Amino acid sequence: MKSTLIIGAGGVGRVVTHKCSQLPDTFGQITLASRTLAKCEEIAGEIDGPIRTATVDADDPAAVVALMEEVRPDILINVALPYQDLSLMEACLEAGVHYLDTANYEPKDDPRFSYEYQWPYHQRFADAGITALLGSGFDPGVTNVFCAYAQKHFFDEIHTVDIIDANAGDHGLPFATNFNPEINIREITAKGRFWQEGQWRQTEPLELSQPFKFPHPEVGTRDIYLLYHEEMESLCKHLKGIKRLRFWMTFSANYINHLNVLQNVGMTAIEPIDFEGHKIAPLEFLKAVLPDPASLGPLTKGKTCIGCVMDGVKDGQRLQKYIYNVCDHQEAYRETNAQAISYTTGVPAMIGAKMILEGHWEKPGVFNMEQHDPDPFMEALGKYGLPWEVVDGAPFLEQLRQHNP
Ligand code: NDP
Repeated sequence: MKSTLIIGAGGVGRVVTHKCSQLPDTFGQITLASRTLAKCEEIAGEIDGPIRTATVDADDPAAVVALMEEVRPDILINVALPYQDLSLMEACLEAGVHYLDTANYEPKDDPRFSYEYQWPYHQRFADAGITALLGSGFDPGVTNVFCAYAQKHFFDEIHTVDIIDANAGDHGLPFATNFNPEINIREITAKGRFWQEGQWRQTEPLELSQPFKFPHPEVGTRDIYLLYHEEMESLCKHLKGIKRLRFWMTFSANYINHLNVLQNVGMTAIEPIDFEGHKIAPLEFLKAVLPDPASLGPLTKGKTCIGCVMDGVKDGQRLQKYIYNVCDHQEAYRETNAQAISYTTGVPAMIGAKMILEGHWEKPGVFNMEQHDPDPFMEALGKYGLPWEVVDGAPFLEQLRQHNP
């Protein structure tokens, strides 16, 4: 019988556990392990089938290997935090178990997430005959697969990709992040970067922004901000003929105001300060006082819309496409007790694991999503809750002209 080990019992872990349990033939016996056992038990209690739970420190490869010897998993789905990626990859190598994550490694004391730490594991995974699939969430993840699908079916060459991520959900709280606050704020307060003509160009944090009218009326027109995002690091290597890659995310004026104040008073700093004899990192303290993203599930109403606007050529003719998904917060909550940000990450994590376990993407080594055949993944997306649309990209690209060189 198959066995699956999921590590991390946050918002994404909740969705992955729900979704994997719906496919017992693929995932077999599921074990959910995390730092806090009570969180695993709460999630297991929401699911009809038997889910085993365990406590583990994912920073300790020996402890993870010991758990794997007990559970004997076919795959480890890492939905803890990016800080744990390398220790969990080491544990998988030691135990000979396939590995999957949704965010690339980032050292805790250096907010610079990059594949430079995980790509060098390729030969060791290849020699061990096991697969590591990196970034199997929505962005990174589905956005990479959208590009691979467009490359395979529509274009001879894709010249520009604008990845646009809208969360039009409203939780009614003054300020909250919709996934882990520490990881989220580290990402947003970093300098912006985009890839153009073979090199990275840097912007100040949230320096470039513009309004953008989304294809779904409930998402409407929103301000999008240019950020650095990790999928560009692999896409600039794997997309034939690519000349420019940008990533944009929506934020409300209220969110930006709160973030500016927090930053101005030093609450987003990661360097520990002395406080009454204790060392405290302000951002970690801020995380402790902000709402737990898991608590936003029942509160959040509205939709997300994430996709890729692409410009390129086919048979010598210019061609533009926009591929996107729209996900509803309340529908996601009804199915998995989690809001759409966790849902749009957890569903692709389940599908990526399914691709490996069913042999479609089982290939020894370390891979990004766009390096595999996109077709079975795209088919599964529609089937398991994240249907997608392909429309003419021209009117959307036209809107992005404001910041075109
Ligand atoms: P949460 O903070 O809600 O959950 C993280 C979980 O990991 C918690 O249960 C936490 O335990 C557990 N954990 C943390 N450290 C350890 C450790 N050392 N040992 C064992 N367990 C540990 O985060 P999310 O669920 O929101 O996000 C999970 C991952 O998904 C993150 O890496 C995030 O970056 C990624 N993500 C990816 C997206 C994509 O589209 N690709 C989008 C959104 C998120 P405890 O409860 O005790 O703190």
